[in-house]
Amino acid sequence: MQSSFNGYPDSWYTASSQIPPGRESLNGEATADVCVIGAGYTGLSAALHLKELGHSVIVLEAERVGWGASGRNGGHVGTGQRADQLSLEAWFGQSAAQELWRLGLEAVELVTDLVLKHQIECEFGEANVHFAAKRSHVAELKEEIEHLQTHYNYSNIEGVDKRSLHEVTSGIGFHYAAIDRGARHLHPLKYCLGLAQAVADAGATIFERSKVTSLTQTKGGVGVTTEGGHVNAKKVVIACNGYLDTLFAPIASNIMPINNFIVATEPLDEAVAARLNPLNASLSDSLFVINYWKLSRDRRLIFGGGETYSDKFPDSITDFVRPKLLAIYPELSTTKLDFGWGGTLAITRNRMPDLGVSNGSIFYAQGFSGHGVPTATMAGKLIALAINGGHDDFDLMAGLKTRKFPGGPLLRRPSLIAGMLFYSLRDRLGR
Ligand SMILES: Cc1cc2nc3c(=O)[nH]c(=O)nc-3n(C[C@H](O)[C@H](O)[C@H](O)COP(=O)(O)OP(=O)(O)OC[C@H]3O[C@@H](n4cnc5c(N)ncnc54)[C@H](O)[C@@H]3O)c2cc1C
Repeated sequence: MQSSFNGYPDSWYTASSQIPPGRESLNGEATADVCVIGAGYTGLSAALHLKELGHSVIVLEAERVGWGASGRNGGHVGTGQRADQLSLEAWFGQSAAQELWRLGLEAVELVTDLVLKHQIECEFGEANVHFAAKRSHVAELKEEIEHLQTHYNYSNIEGVDKRSLHEVTSGIGFHYAAIDRGARHLHPLKYCLGLAQAVADAGATIFERSKVTSLTQTKGGVGVTTEGGHVNAKKVVIACNGYLDTLFAPIASNIMPINNFIVATEPLDEAVAARLNPLNASLSDSLFVINYWKLSRDRRLIFGGGETYSDKFPDSITDFVRPKLLAIYPELSTTKLDFGWGGTLAITRNRMPDLGVSNGSIFYAQGFSGHGVPTATMAGKLIALAINGGHDDFDLMAGLKTRKFPGGPLLRRPSLIAGMLFYSLRDRLGR
């Protein structure tokens, strides 16, 4: 996507944030205990926690802080993991599934604590309403709620019957819903810029417009080369997610980059906004290509829906997303869409994050599969703890081996596209 606003994509998020002046690029030689590559939630959280643990840190960002998915996403801070608990139990066993649930809740708590501790003004809000978009999804959603209440002692979630759905939205086409009062939501770019400020205040150096072009294993650690300079570090953190490209081949085919799109309406009348989203929650549906939405503080509907699997964005993102928005809210047929933007995220095959360490010195976390606001923030912290001497939760996440996408880094796309298109076709068939 073209960067057009101060080095950022032209989105409602950039238009509604105070974008700080650009930071310096790396020029010449530098040394640090840890060099973090990528200034999204993963990299910034790693940098912040590493500084708190007493390590010297340099962050290298190819573009601007929060230029990637962390400055473009839907701002939903969901509980648990991207994969549901029943699947996690089947794949990893009861005990690991319980730990993953705990870690998912701690990730939401971590985001909340960071927002409060660093006084990040990011339109922080509470609760998510998740809708069954097909009749056939109702039983599964009910089972999930019951399972969380019974086996995870989770009392923040409750079901909403079809006849009461008007209490949570005026949207149409839904059959049942779950309200999760433990979820949070926020303005993603403001959160990311606030994290960067906390990182800088803690004494780490962030270089922008400093794309890393190569990594070399050295005697003392890793050499990190950019177009303008070089960092000698004992350890490196790769936090590039959907923008990793060819930087580090051993982890490239653990993930698949995909594009997702969001629009922002013009500000809505108070009464309309209250009808669309009476709880001022984040909302989402159960389709394979998920629709997700929330209100901004100035009462715009921020609505995400639609994916592409090539490296191209649609010519008109507003035209691409509008039908998905109108299918749920036909009452907005004459509402203007003021902004449309897209971003690239990385998914894994089982939708669980891919954390690990290579050669004892190159740590990485990626593949948050659309659930990264909490889990990428947590992954950064876990990497910091691992570098600081090790931590069980890092080992737990690193132990969840994700299968590589077939075809290797270059030929991943065709098989993925076929699979994704099959499921998105199923979304459109029947209710
Ligand atoms: C449209 C959209 C909607 C989403 N909605 C949600 C949501 O509502 N809730 C949720 O939980 N998750 C959501 N996600 C996912 C979430 O945004 C990501 O999981 C999360 O932001 C990942 O953070 P990150 O720091 O790992 O990666 P990113 O934020 O993508 O950051 C990676 C950074 O690395 C930099 N980089 C890459 N290569 C190099 C290099 N060679 N040298 C230096 N820097 C480099 C990039 O410029 C980029 O800034 C969404 C994603 C998208 C795209």
